[in-house]
Amino acid sequence: MQARRFDAVVVGGGAAGLFCAIEAGKRGRRVAVLERSGQLGRKILISGGGRCNFTNLDVGSENFISQNPHFAKSALARFTPADFISLVKRHRIPFVEKKHGQLFCRESSRAIVEMLAAEAKAAKVEVFANSRIGSVEQHDGHFVLSTDGVAFETENLVIASGGLSFPKVGATGFGYDVARQFGHAIVTTRPSLVALRLKGKAFPELAGVSVDAEVRCGGRSFRENILFTHRGLSGPAILQISNYWSPEKPVSIDLMPDVDLCALFEQNSESPRQAASLLSEHVSKRVIDAFPGARTAKKRVAELDAQARLAVDAKLKHWNALFDATEGWDRAEVTLGGVSTDELDSRTMQSKLVSGLYFIGEVVDVTGWLGGYNFQWAWASGAAAGRAI
Ligand SMILES: Cc1cc2nc3c(=O)[nH]c(=O)nc-3n(C[C@H](O)[C@H](O)[C@H](O)COP(=O)(O)OP(=O)(O)OC[C@H]3O[C@@H](n4cnc5c(N)ncnc54)[C@H](O)[C@@H]3O)c2cc1C
Repeated sequence: MQARRFDAVVVGGGAAGLFCAIEAGKRGRRVAVLERSGQLGRKILISGGGRCNFTNLDVGSENFISQNPHFAKSALARFTPADFISLVKRHRIPFVEKKHGQLFCRESSRAIVEMLAAEAKAAKVEVFANSRIGSVEQHDGHFVLSTDGVAFETENLVIASGGLSFPKVGATGFGYDVARQFGHAIVTTRPSLVALRLKGKAFPELAGVSVDAEVRCGGRSFRENILFTHRGLSGPAILQISNYWSPEKPVSIDLMPDVDLCALFEQNSESPRQAASLLSEHVSKRVIDAFPGARTAKKRVAELDAQARLAVDAKLKHWNALFDATEGWDRAEVTLGGVSTDELDSRTMQSKLVSGLYFIGEVVDVTGWLGGYNFQWAWASGAAAGRAI
């Protein structure tokens, strides 16, 4: 089989792979993108509820989880949210800022995929959709990838095949297999930015109830909504904390973050009102019935002794929730862990073990918070490699 030669071959036509190919193509490099599915950027299309939260106005390495918390700094500093925003503006894509600096397409994620496809075309990137890669070999400093019927040869191989989350839109473990093949270590992977299942008793009667809460775990806290589900909890605060959670760590949840409950009881210590009526000014009545328990809630505030008040405080403000599992890869937005950063150059994403081999995007052990950080990592790590290959 005769091989087609390219200056660089990028495996994966998602956010990171396309961006890397565009950057390299703009420098006059001949680049091929091999995409397993028939469509580019499928995750971009479904992201942000169909409106792609494509970046965040305030991005720093503290918004990412990695065994090396400094690794992402260089790439993030050299390709910033402002750089991506100027590209979005140049393509006249309308966007809106939502809470916490999150930028979303005003109309549809499709605009971002179309923008990347147009940029790739202008940079003369060749896209090979429906590519099934059989093997990856290295001979005399050249990589050879065999696909059905066609072989590709290159000195620069970029692995941008993503992580394991959302297998229904094409996620595979290909990137980890290639990393292992070339001697790279993998930091244990697990689903993240994902709903969690409560260990033991869940609250199916509260399914669908959303509460503004403060959640803490692993030294981090987030103030956002939590959402009760049939088996556990979801909502932005839980997705955020899932990046820091592991089964042995309880998640401390304050269901009334703006209220000093001891002071509230003190101020109302003579009150003939029912406790439920007082508490329901601050949190949903359904939550009160389920948490301190209907019996306590029915008592008058004046009837609650110190012990009863402390018990209510413990349940509503210091709920130590124990979870035993996530809702899994089918529901997780990202993969925590991945190709270890120890053996990658943080400026270029090149392997320190194998010259010409690069890893970018979600396949690397860099995971962002909810809020556009994961796409910013995809653009920034893609740009870093695209400028080097
Ligand atoms: C439902 C959902 C919503 C999300 N919303 C947001 C959001 O709004 N904002 C945000 O920042 N992040 C969001 N994310 C996370 C974000 O989508 C990812 O972090 C990002 O897409 C990672 O980019 P990537 O290019 O590394 O991987 P991917 O986008 O997953 O791209 C990898 C590509 O490689 C291809 N591939 C896989 N295996 C092979 C193979 N063997 N051969 C060839 N090609 C292969 C895949 O088909 C895919 O096209 C969301 C994720 C999900 C699942």
